[in-house]
Amino acid sequence: MTGFISFVGAGPGDPDLITVRGLRALQNADVVLYDNLVELSALEGIHAELIYVGKASGHHSLPQEEINALLCEQALAGKRVVRFKGGDPSVFGRVGEEALYVASKGIPFEIVPGITSSIAGPMYAGIPVTHRGIADNFVVVTAHRNMDESEFSIPVFNSKTTLVLMMARGTIELWQKQLLEKGYPKHHPIALVTSATSSKQQVVVTTVENVVKDAEFYNVGMPTLAVAGNVVTLREKLQWFKGEV
Ligand code: SAH
Repeated sequence: MTGFISFVGAGPGDPDLITVRGLRALQNADVVLYDNLVELSALEGIHAELIYVGKASGHHSLPQEEINALLCEQALAGKRVVRFKGGDPSVFGRVGEEALYVASKGIPFEIVPGITSSIAGPMYAGIPVTHRGIADNFVVVTAHRNMDESEFSIPVFNSKTTLVLMMARGTIELWQKQLLEKGYPKHHPIALVTSATSSKQQVVVTTVENVVKDAEFYNVGMPTLAVAGNVVTLREKLQWFKGEV
């Protein structure tokens, strides 16, 4: 008998921010494959076998092919498998790759969306990604450095765009340079949001000009996203989260 695979979004960190459907899938699972989550407590009380397939400090993550193979192996053994991924599985979460592989093996699956940190992270910092009269669109871009060292997909400056940079911590100097090249004003506001929705949430408000210096000064860690946009100024009035979860 073939099992079933649920790709489940864990949400941005706080375990309360998983969907009802995602939680049900976890509770019914025989085995959970997970990687780097902001809050491991999401898996507390889950009576399934837990298999870590992510990058622990000093260890390499399992190559994608091995994760694909492991998923199928578990499902073909008749198990209910949850593939648990941070945020929403489709936002830089490779769910497409994994699901394509699973589909090619004829294994039934579902994909349960999650709350993505690219939207919830800013909001927990008091920053809505759109706001009437201030931002009428938002763009989510990876700031992960590609092997080919090509540019990030940062669009030309538009004062009504909110730009969210994901995987932003390791490449600040590179994207700062690119923001300036794309016409971002030196004093354009940026917020660096780290470990959003968890008790370790940290928010540093800075500018294009000062972002490198301030990230060092405030010891900004990971995971971090950067929000560049005039909506950052709303934080002064909308900051609501006090770090209690
Ligand atoms: N699928 C995830 C994103 C995976 S890419 C989602 O939808 O949220 C990993 C990047 O997400 C991190 O480098 C960081 O930029 C961002 N990220 C994830 N969780 C975060 C959090 N709690 N606080 C801030 N950034 C976070």
